[in-house]
Amino acid sequence: MSPEYETEPRFVTDRMLGTLTRYLRFMGYDTISANGFAQGNAKEDTFLLEIAAREHRVLLTRDTELANRGKDRAVQIKPDDVMEQVQQLIECGLVERRLPMSRCSLCNSLLREASADEIEGAEYAPKDGAGFMFYWCSSCRKLYWNGSHGKKLAERIGGEER
Ligand SMILES: [Zn+2]
Repeated sequence: MSPEYETEPRFVTDRMLGTLTRYLRFMGYDTISANGFAQGNAKEDTFLLEIAAREHRVLLTRDTELANRGKDRAVQIKPDDVMEQVQQLIECGLVERRLPMSRCSLCNSLLREASADEIEGAEYAPKDGAGFMFYWCSSCRKLYWNGSHGKKLAERIGGEER
């Protein structure tokens, strides 16, 4: 494991925290969501606790009982607003404000630099690509660039886009 992985927190989130999940990925944090698992697992809480333990992830949940079961491996997310949820994680020292464009917000895969073909093939890319850096998710086949998350998101998270 690289030293980065030993210090960088990773997360698993419950089904109530879909928006926070995307924000954490925008911020570059490895975050898997219960929404990515099959529905209808009666023991989902136990399953989430097992994933947190096995993969050394911090469990983020809205649920008091689940947070209590997770002890120091779980954080109960209290605010309703996603920016306040991010703020809660900043205040407890788990995450920092940043927007590194390193991870796909849809699937959590790491992005790599996009090839010329990939940029050209994406109709939604800015037509004049000068001044942009382009990144590619090989799983979703989706193009990202600095600014593609939107200026508003950059302002809200307050991190530096690279
Ligand atoms: Zn993806």
